[in-house]
Amino acid sequence: MTQTDWEAIIGLEVHAQISSRTKLFSGASTEFGAEHNTQVSLVDTAMPGTLPVLNYYCVEQAIRTGLALSGEINNCSYFDRKNYFYPDSPQGYQITQFFEPIVKNCKLFINNGTREIRIAKIHLEQDSGKSIHSENKTYIDLNRAGIALMEIVSQPDLRSSKEVAEFMKKLRQILRYVGSCDGDMEKGSLRCDANVSVCRRGSKEFGTRCEIKNLNSVRYMVQAVDYEINRQIEILENGEELNQDTLLFDVSSGKTKVMRNKEDASDYRYFPEPDLLPVMITQDKIDLIALSLPELPDQKKLRYIEELGINEYDADVITSDKITADYFEELIQKHHPKIAVTWLTVELFGRLNKAGIDITSSPIKAHALSELLDFIIDDTISAKLGKQVFDTMFETGKSAAEIIDEQSLKQITDEKQISVIIDQVMDSNQDKVNEYKNGKTKLYGFFIGEIMKLTKGQANPNTVNSVLSKKLSK
Ligand code: ADP
Ligand code: MG
Repeated sequence: MTQTDWEAIIGLEVHAQISSRTKLFSGASTEFGAEHNTQVSLVDTAMPGTLPVLNYYCVEQAIRTGLALSGEINNCSYFDRKNYFYPDSPQGYQITQFFEPIVKNCKLFINNGTREIRIAKIHLEQDSGKSIHSENKTYIDLNRAGIALMEIVSQPDLRSSKEVAEFMKKLRQILRYVGSCDGDMEKGSLRCDANVSVCRRGSKEFGTRCEIKNLNSVRYMVQAVDYEINRQIEILENGEELNQDTLLFDVSSGKTKVMRNKEDASDYRYFPEPDLLPVMITQDKIDLIALSLPELPDQKKLRYIEELGINEYDADVITSDKITADYFEELIQKHHPKIAVTWLTVELFGRLNKAGIDITSSPIKAHALSELLDFIIDDTISAKLGKQVFDTMFETGKSAAEIIDEQSLKQITDEKQISVIIDQVMDSNQDKVNEYKNGKTKLYGFFIGEIMKLTKGQANPNTVNSVLSKKLSK
């Protein structure tokens, strides 16, 4: 195959479930994992006489997301009906935004800020229910029916599966910072349809595209896109024609399969939803909503590098998600950024990884680590003992103060006390003292070892050094 002659063109349609306790048009709960059909209101089942009521919290979340992606907020958007039958969609249509979406013209940067990927729009729509197939029966669960989704539609700006992965990770990171979507792909809070076409390198016209539906992990997105690019090149090189198909990705074979032919917008007979008013958003309201946005990962990373002197790698790790960044920022309220970086990325992450837990469920909260650092910096304990205390904190959830107290770990800094201990060690090792004085200076480490043994590692190393070297040179 002559892959280098071809260029891949990819556009993504991402469905992000809005983190809202209630659905887009009803008060039913959105909690994940509930018993089938227990989170369904009459509106969600499309009972006659019921009417949808727009959840403004979801509107705000879409606006916040749009602002975080430098988009234009539509002052007057509205909802449309997309008509089609599906058993898990009781209305017989989906309420979505087709003609006037809430957000337009966003952008997202990948490849260290050097590649701009345009996002055409973000629109609000309701999710469908779920069909559960078992043997010869199909069951319908409507818990998901009516949950609010943002559909985020990119322009066909992506050129490889690598860029697809980067785009998705970056989008997920921003959504999680904004808090509009939890980004949990395993639970289906974030799903993606990938549109793929190929064309001769340098050609101005895009080829026929296929759309791979419902990819629910970045890994599958990469596999599916790569498979599809190769499949299309092969077909075109054989002189055959491509159909504009809708495909499914089979995770076990790693191949895409045709699900149906592409349907057109006209097939859905879109028309404005008569049961809902247009969504009017004033500029004042937008400005107010903008105030609720947190510092975003790119800005944060730059600030860490430029103002705190943190290297790029560490800045990337710390800003990868907001919870880690918040943890770090609590540490640097009292401590030097470099110390905070080490304790967070080496000591804490090391232990979290080993235990297979996420920072959200870390047994050591930022204020507790900050307190431990206080004890190390004011010489209550040595840095070495600090790591032991950290282990115990991790295992027991106790505070550093409790552990230091319980195990009497306070560092001995009193010179007189240390002097007495050193005398003890020298007295019981008179022969070694003589050898040392006769030139066997290697024995210095032996004395240090004995002193530390006697004090269980609690003697302040600097004080020990200065007192010991004085005594030995007498
Ligand atoms: P539709 O609404 O029919 O699905 P859109 O024009 O809204 O079509 O595009 C849907 C997605 O397909 C967008 O993400 C867009 O970037 C992508 N897309 C459009 N044309 C192509 C193409 N030739 N190759 C790859 N992706 C494409
Ligand atoms: Mg589509």
